[in-house]
Amino acid sequence: MSQPSPVEFVRHPHPAPTTPEQRTAILRDPGFGRVFTDHMVVIRYTEGKGWHDARITARAPIPMDPASAVLHYSQEIFEGLKAYRTADGGAVMFRPLDNARRFQKSAERLAMPSLPEQVFVDALDQLVRIDRDWIPDGDGSLYLRPFMFASEVFLGVKPSSEYLFIVIASPVGSYFKSKDSAVSVWVSQELTRAAPGGTGAAKCGGNYAASLLAQMEAGRHGCEQVVFLDAVERRWIEELGGMNIFFVFNDGSMLTPPLGGTILPGITRASILALARDMNIAVREEPYAFDQWRADAASGHLKETFACGTAAVLTPIGTVKSRDGDFVIGNGGSGEQTDRLKSALIEIQRCRAPDPHGWVHRVF
Ligand SMILES: *Cc1c(COP(=O)(O)O)cnc(C)c1O
Repeated sequence: MSQPSPVEFVRHPHPAPTTPEQRTAILRDPGFGRVFTDHMVVIRYTEGKGWHDARITARAPIPMDPASAVLHYSQEIFEGLKAYRTADGGAVMFRPLDNARRFQKSAERLAMPSLPEQVFVDALDQLVRIDRDWIPDGDGSLYLRPFMFASEVFLGVKPSSEYLFIVIASPVGSYFKSKDSAVSVWVSQELTRAAPGGTGAAKCGGNYAASLLAQMEAGRHGCEQVVFLDAVERRWIEELGGMNIFFVFNDGSMLTPPLGGTILPGITRASILALARDMNIAVREEPYAFDQWRADAASGHLKETFACGTAAVLTPIGTVKSRDGDFVIGNGGSGEQTDRLKSALIEIQRCRAPDPHGWVHRVF
């Protein structure tokens, strides 16, 4: 970054970091979100004082008063992005500035202070640099989790006057256990995730809390993921619990539901829209009804459906289940266009293809 950061980071490296032998063993099969690197970034916010006390320290539990506001009123937001190892031994992140901007929008919706974009990206850079040996080789990546929560000790209902911004990192392999095969989804026709005027477009923990019961219902029906419909008519497909959704038709054109405040504006979604347009694929942002999805799958008009997000990149959806019965998409496996878009995106993310949109941010 060219401009100096308005926040100075104090470094307290881990006194007894993980040994290279231990780390090698951990990185052999990290799973998703189970293991963490040695460090974290912490920045405090206090009303009247602003952002201060930025430090990079050993990852450790956070002492918390039981009256901390977040534990009662869920004033919390987060982000998720990945750092990748490049062929030349360096490291890159994918569109971190977009995460910084979305974090600001989430903060605004949850009545939280705005963290300057530069500070957000600097914090990520610092953590990736200090924990550089934790970035897996091959298909793996270092998942970065910036988050902010209300830390004021007060039970009154109001925006907190104190916050903590923290970044932790987790080396990850593949998100789904069944690697590369299509997932099955449960369409939730009763429980919804986000209502007009609510927090659906903000990346806040509360949205996830609200999605878990439907996710459990999906699990009971043998599905890996849940698809949410709109909260007003229970008719229009919105997104999954943590991923956006795309439909591919037999003429090669694509459709994804439009952002309207109830859908999370995914950076993977935006990247797929741009890549599709680069490849001269007609892609529309239009409402799509659950009934239409079923009818189009049956008639053969619909060829593929995939979910997309940072954690799982592009994941084909093979089977759709609901209380009105099941249906299969295409041959029930991955589709040609899904695979093509997925590799186009991964090649850019890993610096193996040109980056015409300037999405890749080099850390070192
Ligand atoms: C994070 C998230 C996504 C995907 O966003 P990306 O920026 O592509 O990772 C989609 N839906 C929800 C609800 C999310 O929280």
